[in-house]
Amino acid sequence: MKILVMNAGSSSQKSCLYDLPADALPAAAPAPLWRGSVDWTAQADAAEIAVSTRHGASLQESVPGEPRSDAVERLLKTLWMGETAVIAKPAEIEIVGHRVVHGGTEYRDSVRVTEDVKGAIARLSMFAPIHNPANLQGIEAIEQALGNVPQVAVFDTAFHATLPQAATVYPIPYEWYEKGVQRYGFHGISHRYCAQRAAQLLGRAPQSLRLIICHLGNGASLSAVKGGECVNTTMGFTPLEGLMMGTRSGSIDPSILIHLMRQHGQSADDLDRLLNKESGMAGLSGVSADMRQIDRAIAQGNDRAQLALEVYLYRLRFHIGAMLPSLGGLDALVFTAGIGENAPALRASACQGFEFLGLAVDAVKNVRSPHDIDIATSDSAVRILAIHTQEDWAIAQDCWHLAHS
Ligand code: ADP
Repeated sequence: MKILVMNAGSSSQKSCLYDLPADALPAAAPAPLWRGSVDWTAQADAAEIAVSTRHGASLQESVPGEPRSDAVERLLKTLWMGETAVIAKPAEIEIVGHRVVHGGTEYRDSVRVTEDVKGAIARLSMFAPIHNPANLQGIEAIEQALGNVPQVAVFDTAFHATLPQAATVYPIPYEWYEKGVQRYGFHGISHRYCAQRAAQLLGRAPQSLRLIICHLGNGASLSAVKGGECVNTTMGFTPLEGLMMGTRSGSIDPSILIHLMRQHGQSADDLDRLLNKESGMAGLSGVSADMRQIDRAIAQGNDRAQLALEVYLYRLRFHIGAMLPSLGGLDALVFTAGIGENAPALRASACQGFEFLGLAVDAVKNVRSPHDIDIATSDSAVRILAIHTQEDWAIAQDCWHLAHS
């Protein structure tokens, strides 16, 4: 069964094709047959296409950047044309799954794409003005290239639909809540995958577990997962709330915005750029949003890079602590995404201050860890896991289940 996964971002379209048995899902993620991406960031009016296949074929080419749908169509054609072809014809693709950033409060699970679902994704663009239109474009590109193949929307917000109301309502006038201004949470596909994978690695039923999942990539968020359901998370109305990130500030006193508007004439667009693109590790360090560059700068004695890391860790621990009461205890702390998977020193520092929970990192396992292992000492009361997040695989699994329902 050939399942195509589409993951559209603001300036990229990543995609992969899985070939799965129709009778049973494999326990672990198989390598995709084909991976491809379009990147619109490298050049002003061009798009870079990159493709690689499981058999070792690859392709890189520059195509005109606009219209975007043409570049996506070109990417899709590499599935059945040329050296990177892995299928004979487009009709071999049975179902297509899309990561969709915002599903509002309507979508608690993945759904088949219908005209109604497309309408909802378009309507919710009001809350995710960059991502939802890109996700919709991806759906329409598939309609153009593959006709009426079944498509599935897998929402980044859906896993957080189980948050208790007190965790979703902001303490501002109630009318705004009625107009949709509430906490939604994001990175849900990754949090859900990691919660399931953690249960698998620990050999425990998800219903019996209390987890804190730290998704630490360019964007970063935590979730508290109890009995398989998300009960708290750090991102809110938008992916700006919560932790300090690569270029995003995370939570700050909202009066700073009022001050910048009143005293420094900053506009809404200025503040949007400042908080989303010019803050976080990049803004504070003046070095980079990339944690590897920060580490290098610290090694060379850069004080601002050191300060940025200290603030990052302070806020990470602060928010980990804030997840605890929602769980009433902790069975495992999970680290995932670029930083969570690859930065052992940061994992160890994040755990400092939580020793009172009986949590202890095994220094040897932590630095040697391949992905998907337990890096806690054998007598640690709390397990500590490093898990490679696999959002594409999570999307493919949802497609498989929906195709069989
Ligand atoms: P995105 O949120 O864009 O999917 P990723 O999950 O790929 O991002 O994470 C990107 C982050 O991971 C960057 O800050 C990068 O520096 C960090 N990262 C990747 N590899 C390492 C490493 N070996 N050590 C420290 N940080 C790393």
